[in-house]
Amino acid sequence: MTPLKEKLLRRIAATGPMTLADYMQSCLLDPEHGYYTTRDPFGRTGDFITAPEISQMFGELIGLALAQSWLDQGAPSPFTLAEAGPGRGTLMADILRATRAVPGFHAAARITLIEASPTLRDIQRTALADYDVTWIDTAADLPDAPLWFIANEFFDALPIRQFQRAGDGWAERVVTAQGEALTFALAAPQPYPALDHRLADTREGDVVETCAPALPIAATLGAKIAEHGGAALIVDYGGWHSLGDTFQALTAHEPVDPLAAPGQADLTAHVDFERLAQAAAPARAAPLTPQGVFLERLGITARAQALATQLRDDALASHIAAHRRLTHPEEMGTLFHILALTPPDAPMVPGTADPGRAAE
Ligand code: SAH
Repeated sequence: MTPLKEKLLRRIAATGPMTLADYMQSCLLDPEHGYYTTRDPFGRTGDFITAPEISQMFGELIGLALAQSWLDQGAPSPFTLAEAGPGRGTLMADILRATRAVPGFHAAARITLIEASPTLRDIQRTALADYDVTWIDTAADLPDAPLWFIANEFFDALPIRQFQRAGDGWAERVVTAQGEALTFALAAPQPYPALDHRLADTREGDVVETCAPALPIAATLGAKIAEHGGAALIVDYGGWHSLGDTFQALTAHEPVDPLAAPGQADLTAHVDFERLAQAAAPARAAPLTPQGVFLERLGITARAQALATQLRDDALASHIAAHRRLTHPEEMGTLFHILALTPPDAPMVPGTADPGRAAE
């Protein structure tokens, strides 16, 4: 039995069943045994692989989209260039390499990383050794300044709660103990006013998810961007409106039982983009853009062809596979979406406005 499982069993024995949010928080960020606090989980040899780790093209195109948005808003200086949950620091390194030639962008950028894991902070420090970087614990610590913000697969790691519809109330799905095993149970149904708006689109037995920690982060981003200028690109899996159980655990790229080995698997849930967009008002949310469409609009095919001319054999094959993986509807192309926030009167971020429609 893992030390974290023992700790959770003791806690349940002492204080009763845990919400899924408490369980996720402990598994991912327990200071001694948490998944992110104790390891580097990324890449082919790790548990999962993210878009910036699949290909440099992802970060390059995002960097150019952010820089164009900064130019479109008058190139304010200084501004905060922030990333939440930067993992290995690969995305920020690619953003910075791709924007080197944008006059004034690096000189004006105050690079700021929001990261909870000390282990990953060390890896980020190495990846970004050529730059002056500040780490902060939460979005609430972002300075009052224009803000260009990126997060890839950050919001999906924030703790969720699950509620199952029971009459006009909701039974919370909790984690409890059965002997030495952790199992799911349902708490007694009760009304939750915060879920009143879901009574209209759910039926008996349906599961809905809430992610309370995401809302103040979105509110902070929206307030800074609307007041000082800037933009946020939030990339994650999920859709406009969450419905159903999306809680999942991955080990070595395979789905596993999320209760079997706490602290050893990556735990995620889909992002409810509608709630993020609502919480970010008065910033304006562009229509949700599928990742494949976003990257195609930004010119990934031309970039892929240019890179391909320098590659042969296995390197060429894996480059072609990476392009497909990032964009194809059967891979990450439609599963992942981009929510873009801007001030209401600013141009939309390239790639997130539908070029076929007049600017809103
Ligand atoms: N963006 C990276 C990594 C995604 S994994 C990539 O695309 O490869 C999630 C990241 O969010 C990790 O860096 C993890 O340590 C961090 N993280 C998770 N919960 C966090 C929290 N509550 N506050 C700050 N960082 C958090």
